[in-house]
Amino acid sequence: MIIKCPICGGDVEVPDDALPGELIDHECGITLEVVNEGGSIKLRPLEGVREDWGE
Ligand SMILES: [Zn+2]
Repeated sequence: MIIKCPICGGDVEVPDDALPGELIDHECGITLEVVNEGGSIKLRPLEGVREDWGE
């Protein structure tokens, strides 16, 4: 299934059998966590984990 990225608004390909807690890296650089909200699969930015962009 395709779910919109909450950060960049782009499409995120989520496996149909994705389970809550699974992590998906999006092309915008964010890590998204699969969550089950009210019976439907949603994506939430994973907090506390930031890539080092080499500043
Ligand atoms: Zn994104």
